[in-house]
Amino acid sequence: MIVSMQEKATEEQIYAVIEVMEESGVNVHRTTGATQTILAGVGPTAGLDLSKFEVLPGVLNVHRISSPYKLAGRAFRPEGTVVEFPNGATIGGKQVAIIAGPCAIENREQIFTIAKCVQAAGAGFLRGGAFKPRSSPYAFQGLGIPGLQLMHEAAQEHGLLTVSEVMEISQIEPMLPYTDCFQVGARNMQNFNLLRELGQVRKPVLLKRGIAATIEELLLSCEYIMSGGNYDVILCERGIRTYETATRNTMDISAIPVIHKLSHLPIVGDPSHGTGRRDMVGPMAKAAVAAGADAILVEIHPNADKAASDAAQTLFLDQFEKLVGELRVIATAVGRTL
Ligand code: PEP
Ligand code: MN
Repeated sequence: MIVSMQEKATEEQIYAVIEVMEESGVNVHRTTGATQTILAGVGPTAGLDLSKFEVLPGVLNVHRISSPYKLAGRAFRPEGTVVEFPNGATIGGKQVAIIAGPCAIENREQIFTIAKCVQAAGAGFLRGGAFKPRSSPYAFQGLGIPGLQLMHEAAQEHGLLTVSEVMEISQIEPMLPYTDCFQVGARNMQNFNLLRELGQVRKPVLLKRGIAATIEELLLSCEYIMSGGNYDVILCERGIRTYETATRNTMDISAIPVIHKLSHLPIVGDPSHGTGRRDMVGPMAKAAVAAGADAILVEIHPNADKAASDAAQTLFLDQFEKLVGELRVIATAVGRTL
């Protein structure tokens, strides 16, 4: 259930409503927007008589949520979520964010060269995998925490924030000092124990859509994180598996407006994994910005064709610089900045 408070509702009135909701056996999640406070009640609400809440002072209206995801749904924050980072950078506002870096952190020189390029392009986020979910156990698995330390150092030197994939619960703690945003990869979208644990973390989570997941399943996975009290979730469309073989995955651009309609959370377009092909990354990045993506995640490398993982989809640095210029034009055309 969602209880929308009146614009002028006082803190005392809000607390009184929370108390009645809790007495009725529901868990209350509060969000305070620019104009109004919304209280989401999660739990056994089916048998509750909503008029009991409607008559409380300060309440504007009360309704049941029919969708299975209560906190990820648009009604929880009708005005949309802007995820804010400690340095003031945001994802979900008017500005389209750029998250760029190698598929995997490989060595000091590689990540420092890339960080310099990411900063020069005006992007705010440096990505790189330290723990890599590879299809083959014999493929490069990533440098682990030492790799993450290198990326963190490079990011500090260039005023960037770091995004890196966490594959299991035991990695969260050691990653914390070096990670500004935890990525949950496609293969782990339904690792519910990991998601629950990330709900306890107070850092943003970038949740990628699973290889064969519906949008509803993505939003339900997100609910696992949010129900723990971590509301800073950024969703990511990274392509899904279809019968088409011309591209590595089929990038579902329509997921971007669909998610904006269903959810208040920001959505990132990842044309690198979305297509798996260097020559298709630019067109799909532009399509994603045109469709309303709040950020673009792209894999880049100074020796792209020699990258230790995902070489075929990785852009050379000059291609990335050119792409950012083009994305700026598209962003302006759709009323955004970049
Ligand atoms: C990645 O970002 O490098 C990655 C492994 O992504 P995904 O989980 O989308 O395959
Ligand atoms: Mn990759």
